[in-house]
Amino acid sequence: MSDIRYDPIHDTHVIIAPERLHRPDCFMRESEVEETNEHCPFCEGNEALTPHEIFAIRDNDSVANEKGWQTRVVPNLYKALQIETPHQHHYGAFEYWKGFGAHEVIIDTPKHHTSMTQWSEKEVIFWLKTLSSRVADLRRDHRIAHISLFKNEGIEAGATQTHAHTQLIGLPIIPKMHRAYYQRSYEHYHHHGQALLAEKIANEEANGERIVAIEGDFTAYCPYASAYPFEVMISSKKALGQIDALSDKSMEVLAPLLLRTLKKLKDQLGYFDFNLSIATPPLQEGTVEQELLYTVNKACRFAIRIMPRLYKHAGFEVSTGIIINPVSPEFAAKLLREGNDE
Ligand SMILES: [Zn+2]
Repeated sequence: MSDIRYDPIHDTHVIIAPERLHRPDCFMRESEVEETNEHCPFCEGNEALTPHEIFAIRDNDSVANEKGWQTRVVPNLYKALQIETPHQHHYGAFEYWKGFGAHEVIIDTPKHHTSMTQWSEKEVIFWLKTLSSRVADLRRDHRIAHISLFKNEGIEAGATQTHAHTQLIGLPIIPKMHRAYYQRSYEHYHHHGQALLAEKIANEEANGERIVAIEGDFTAYCPYASAYPFEVMISSKKALGQIDALSDKSMEVLAPLLLRTLKKLKDQLGYFDFNLSIATPPLQEGTVEQELLYTVNKACRFAIRIMPRLYKHAGFEVSTGIIINPVSPEFAAKLLREGNDE
């Protein structure tokens, strides 16, 4: 039996169709694990192969653009947008923005880890601190209205570099789906006095069927209307809208939960390709209702979304925007919950 489920967070519908699931072993895939790669521009020792770093978490005695770092941020060599481009909006019959924006690559670890499942808790904490610092820094640039933070791991997820990395794209506009989401969140908070996502988490916890794990203020769950097989959301019940509001203490709770979730996914799927995104609320006045910006930490919730890319989207998905997901989130959560912890 399949369901057409409404997702009020993204205002989309998703079709959960377990009968389309192939044999479980179709998920399994092999992947090489290497410590270093002499030709990889992201490996420690190859700093000369990248543009100069914008930011890095470095050992005390190390020098910029040399060895001795935990994370490095560099401009994307193949950037979609450039910060040097004029911040210009052209109106008229053919409305456009010049290609202004930030496009940065966060090199997540000095080791040639090809999968986030190989990271240590410390590496996850350094990664969260780096993302938080970049968002806090770019927030000061009033030309940037929205920051997209995402990871592509594996070919099916769109990665072209195997070494673990994250991308940041800062836009002069707010993408329509994000604008609508934050507007909905704000209106929900305005009418119900509670964040939309916090209410969803409370409902999921009360139901229990789709919960993967709970640690402190953070909950990992497979959303009721999961668009991707084994999709997992990690979010906070606490009033915490943005990544640069995460305290060191919160990072210490979140890092092991994220790592545990990824390892549980790997136990079920083998090395799997996935996209990961981190929700970042709109940044500037004039792009959304001002009141939304004032209430962002109350109305919105920090969230990490893990989207395994096990199936390709085809004609139906492209033509309707409705995704067919062959794995029910109840089944996925049960496997992730019951799997071994180590
Ligand atoms: Zn590498």
